[in-house]
Amino acid sequence: MTALVDEQALERPPDDCRSPKVAGHPTSAIRRYLRSPKTIWCPGCSNGIAMRAVVDAVLSLQLDHDKIAVVAGIGCAGRVAQYLDFSTVHTPHGRALAVATGAKAADPSLTLLVVMGDGDCVAIGGNHLIHAARRNIDLTAIVFNNSIYGMTGGQMSPTTFPGDRSTTSVWGNVEPAFDTCELAHAAGATYVARGTSYSYMKLVQAIAGGIVHRGFSFVEAMTSCPTYYGRQNDVPTAAAMLEVQKARAVPVDKFDRDGPRLRDRYPVGVLHHVERAEYTSAYEEVRRRAQDRSG
Ligand code: SF4
Repeated sequence: MTALVDEQALERPPDDCRSPKVAGHPTSAIRRYLRSPKTIWCPGCSNGIAMRAVVDAVLSLQLDHDKIAVVAGIGCAGRVAQYLDFSTVHTPHGRALAVATGAKAADPSLTLLVVMGDGDCVAIGGNHLIHAARRNIDLTAIVFNNSIYGMTGGQMSPTTFPGDRSTTSVWGNVEPAFDTCELAHAAGATYVARGTSYSYMKLVQAIAGGIVHRGFSFVEAMTSCPTYYGRQNDVPTAAAMLEVQKARAVPVDKFDRDGPRLRDRYPVGVLHHVERAEYTSAYEEVRRRAQDRSG
């Protein structure tokens, strides 16, 4: 009798864990992938940096433009669906991963890039995140984490650090913050990385590594919201917010792995990378077996 579960397909280190080579591209090359050069993000918002990093990663990997689909959720990060000139879908709040799962199941040859904000991904869409990670479906989830709900007026999100202020925690947040990378790892993501908008090329590298990985990739891009988070937390300028990222980001090989993600430091780089059976391939195998038995 054929085993239903391939025991050999359990998690293992990748055969080749070298990061893909990435290069920065001139603005003229990036613009070809934008529907409009005009930004509707606030001055100093680093969502534009993270979006450019997505395009730079795609260009570095020389992917087929027609085989890329970008799925975005609701919120300031979700605006990428309007900017990027790929096949794009702007989904209801929290549902980007569910829609991307359907698109990938329908056409496994697509490269799916799923851009979400932190509230979109780990609050209203948290359930979709854990199940997409558990299935190990071949998507690249990129979370623009500015630690706040920007579009709706600066409310506290699940990634607001304890003590920080927002319009719904004006005297300081008392809740612990989600470590989105630890969450994705625990749920089954097979590639997990974090970068910052301060270290641009490292962020491009982290995203490119996620795209080439076959399985569920999760990349947290630390971004900054000067309009709400900065103003409310005494970080008055966009440049100052990037300086904060620079101070907090610690390369993963230097980070104390036993320590939790803290307000004053977090590991950056590739945090977790293993191989495990990918969902659409496993599903295709089951379909083939069923056809063999019924034929
Ligand atoms: Fe960016 Fe914040 Fe403005 Fe939204 S509200 S566009 S996250 S600066």
